[in-house]
Amino acid sequence: MNMQDRPFVFIGNNVAVDFINTEIVSHGDLIDLLRDGADLVRWAQGASLSIQSPLRPTDFKKALGLRAVLKTLYAAMIDKLPAPPEALTALNQHLSRHCSREVLRFNKRESGYTLEPTQGPLSMPVLLAHLAYEGAKLLASPQATRLKHCGNPDCVLIFLDTSRSQKRRWCSMETCGNRAKVATHYRNSLSQGKG
Ligand SMILES: [Zn+2]
Repeated sequence: MNMQDRPFVFIGNNVAVDFINTEIVSHGDLIDLLRDGADLVRWAQGASLSIQSPLRPTDFKKALGLRAVLKTLYAAMIDKLPAPPEALTALNQHLSRHCSREVLRFNKRESGYTLEPTQGPLSMPVLLAHLAYEGAKLLASPQATRLKHCGNPDCVLIFLDTSRSQKRRWCSMETCGNRAKVATHYRNSLSQGKG
C-alpha cells in the first residue's frame, strides 16, 4: 500500500488516545502517519475537528511534541509507573492555554440552554490545548485504569477498553486480533496433527 493511502486509526475510544496512535507499526517498522502539517489537518478532519490550514512548521513541531508527551504519560499510566515530571510540566503548559470549544446558546423554542461546539476551524494552539485537555481529563478519571496496550507485542497502539466485560485485548480484530487467532489455529492444527 502506498504511504499516501495509509489510513489513520481511530480505535482508541478517546481523541487523545487516537492522537497518540498516529504512530503505528507495520511489518516491524515504526511508521509516523503524521509526516507534515497536511497530514495533521487530515487527521483532525478524521477526528471531527477542523483546524485552520495551512499549518506553520513550528505548529506542526509543537503537535509532535505534545503527542510525545501524551505518549510518555499514557505509557507510564498503563505500566503503573509514576508520571515523568518533564512530561507532566509540558502537558500542563498546553493545558494553561485551554479554553472551551463550546458556546452556550439559548434555545427559544425549548426555553433552555444548550452547549454546542464552536463553529469554524480551530487555531493550532486551541487544537493542541484541546487534545492536552482531553488527554489530561482521561488520565485523571477512574476510566484511566481501562487504558491498555494492544496484546500484540509488535504493535504500539493503545486504547481505552470501554467494553462491558473489559476483556478487549486487541487494537482491532481485523489486524492484531485476527493474527493471534490465525496463530492459535495454526498451533492447534499442528498439535492435532501430531496426536
Ligand atoms: Zn495491535
